[in-house]
Amino acid sequence: MYTDFTFSIIKPNAVRTGKTGPILAMINEAGFEIAAMRMVRLTKPQAESFYAIHNGKPFFEGLIEFMTSGPVVVMILRHENAVEQFRKLIGSTDPAKAEPGTIRKLYAVSVQMNAVHGSDSVENAAIEAGFFFSRIERFL
Ligand code: UDP
Ligand code: MG
Repeated sequence: MYTDFTFSIIKPNAVRTGKTGPILAMINEAGFEIAAMRMVRLTKPQAESFYAIHNGKPFFEGLIEFMTSGPVVVMILRHENAVEQFRKLIGSTDPAKAEPGTIRKLYAVSVQMNAVHGSDSVENAAIEAGFFFSRIERFL
């Protein structure tokens, strides 16, 4: 199986405030290839399944409300060692802890509204991409 890919979402706060273009430019400049991309508005059940692993945590309800609050951009990205490289490019979940120059440092407004999602493993990247793209091997 091809493993040099990851899955990303530009979250509602960033889309709403016109950061889609600047974030896509950073992704391209860091050497990622955008293999597939769509703009979508998540339904509540979609957001709940996507973040099912966090169900029951104190931030879950707020996260679902946020993620369904406006359109998002979903993408499959290709790069050598993409999962790890992309997590480096986006920075820590908490923007206060994110490295300078990372996407979250620049565009997150809080831990919740942290501008972008990046998968944490290739297995999860395949599962997450599968929520939005059918037969993802076509893009890899
Ligand atoms: N999140 C939140 N409050 C928290 C932790 C996480 O609102 O205390 C949100 C945030 O948007 C984060 C997402 O839930 O990106 C998923 O959390 P995870 O720990 O998986 O962080 P990530 O993998 O996105 O860095
Ligand atoms: Mg995560």
